Amino acid sequence: MDQMKIGAFIAECRKKKGWTQSQLGEKLGLTDKAVSKWETGRSMPDLSLFPSLCSLLEISINELMAGEYIPEEQLRAKTDAVLMEVITNWLGGDKWELKETGLKEESILKVLNVSKIYEAENRKTLAVDDVSFGVQPGSFLGIMGKSGSGKSTLLNLIATIDKPTGGKIEMNGHSITDIPENQAARFRREHLGFVFQEYNLLDNLTIYENIALALTVKEIPRENVKQTIFELAEKLDIVSVLNKYPYEVSGGQRQRSACARAAVTRPDIILADEPTGALDSHSARQLLGTFNMLRREYGATILMVTHDVLSASYCDRILFMQDGKIKAVLDREQESRQDFFAKILDKIAWMEGEDNVF
Ligand code: ADP
Ligand code: MG
Repeated sequence: MDQMKIGAFIAECRKKKGWTQSQLGEKLGLTDKAVSKWETGRSMPDLSLFPSLCSLLEISINELMAGEYIPEEQLRAKTDAVLMEVITNWLGGDKWELKETGLKEESILKVLNVSKIYEAENRKTLAVDDVSFGVQPGSFLGIMGKSGSGKSTLLNLIATIDKPTGGKIEMNGHSITDIPENQAARFRREHLGFVFQEYNLLDNLTIYENIALALTVKEIPRENVKQTIFELAEKLDIVSVLNKYPYEVSGGQRQRSACARAAVTRPDIILADEPTGALDSHSARQLLGTFNMLRREYGATILMVTHDVLSASYCDRILFMQDGKIKAVLDREQESRQDFFAKILDKIAWMEGEDNVF
């Protein structure tokens, strides 16, 4: 982070607005001296002033930290680099934050010997039992299993909504199991995309506003927000409903909008819990097609919990859970989706057969 460069950039943006140092100071409730100190690189604006300063100067926080305008085509790479710096220099970088979102190494997510025991009214439930697996970047991993087999619990552990009783979960090589509670929300916003029933769209915002809200966390320059949303909306076939409220659109459109919200920040991984659960088969297919498009065109990595065979047949790897354990793994080879569908049915029948043995 180059304080001199940032100072010069603040001065440049201020002059562009035609303001004096004291006029800018006034708008922020500060003296011209404070502004002068920033502009000469003697001090940095306080973190709490960033949002209002950026909005006054019409720049993004990343541009402020970079000390220059960031061309749109470089936005992604720059964003990551700048965010890293902000995090390390300003927020006292905890280990788990020191990652590069753009760097996709072989396993984006590692679940290592993870267990979860719920204790309620003197009764212990082993909901997740010593589960280990990795997720490759760009893959579409499915988790199947009967109701009560531990799928949602596992997903919530990965989502940092819940903490494992044992084991470790790593995202891009950094442990996410010891993220303090007060930082977990931020981690989720920046690194994860959710298509969960409980994380539905906000009813008092339009679909457009719902998607835009997710984007605010990435600090994309305001003039690019609209374009980013429209591009994605076109691909997800929801342009016509952008100005509608969630309750005014169909279930399929709502779920695709939720996908747009989850994907628009380009998260490391999109977590979906029974995303097709409430959809008719046409809408379900469309949603699953959407996931595939997000992988193809955005390099998205998706982890989906489902008990639906049709949904699972879109995945390229399926983990079968039973009583909190991964009982079987199925990889889609070169076969067609129809053949994979048949294989999944076989595997389920085999697992139910196993059930009978015990
Ligand atoms: P699935 O999503 O596969 O249906 P869950 O992960 O929701 O399964 O549940 C796994 C097991 O853990 C079940 O036996 C369930 O009753 C139990 N369980 C889930 N959440 C809690 C909780 N908050 N407190 C106690 N038990 C729970
Ligand atoms: Mg569940």
